[in-house]
Amino acid sequence: MPVRHIPQPVVGVLALQGDFEAHRHRLAALGAVVRLVKMPDQFREIDGLVIPGGESTNFLRLLGGQGMAALRACVRARPVFGTCAGAILLAAEVENPAQPALGAIDIRIRRNAYGRQIDSFIGQGRIDDQACEMVFIRAPRIVRVGPRVEIVAALDAQPVAVRQGTAMAATFHPELSDDPRLHEMFLGIVARNFAAARDLSAIDRGAQHPRTA
Ligand code: GLN
Repeated sequence: MPVRHIPQPVVGVLALQGDFEAHRHRLAALGAVVRLVKMPDQFREIDGLVIPGGESTNFLRLLGGQGMAALRACVRARPVFGTCAGAILLAAEVENPAQPALGAIDIRIRRNAYGRQIDSFIGQGRIDDQACEMVFIRAPRIVRVGPRVEIVAALDAQPVAVRQGTAMAATFHPELSDDPRLHEMFLGIVARNFAAARDLSAIDRGAQHPRTA
């Protein structure tokens, strides 16, 4: 019997700089089809995007105005998960200092907010009331959360991972600890979005070629 091909969503990882390999590794271990994305026209070939940690100012420089416009279009249309510098790019407002961002999630974020002495640390936070080890590296802090934003994870009762619609952000590095829950959550969003988009396009095709009775 021929095996029916079941289409699977392709998850892109922005691979301009930063720790994109760790994300690729984690997503692949969870069974995702992963593609590293370096050029803006590749945004059209993916069904979800991870923006890794690194240095947000470098992302802005490497992407330039055109790259940011393409990225903005991508995160409006597809699920996105930004970690650390990626979370900074997804915010509505950035401080310390202010810089352009995509506004995918209604949060205000403060760069390098934990100060020099604890510039990197491992914290014990919570996801859904269960303990979670969290790696923070020159991490930002979420200082304002809009009314439509859901808090997904917290450290010391402060939000460290949030979600709005199909966009997720974490101020820590879930790809660097053993806990796969945030990547699993993101892959769930990607899978549901992909299935819904396929259903819609099937309805569209039906409308274009109406069956005659
Ligand atoms: N401090 C970095 C920035 O402001 C983020 C650090 C990280 O991604 N680990 O962009």
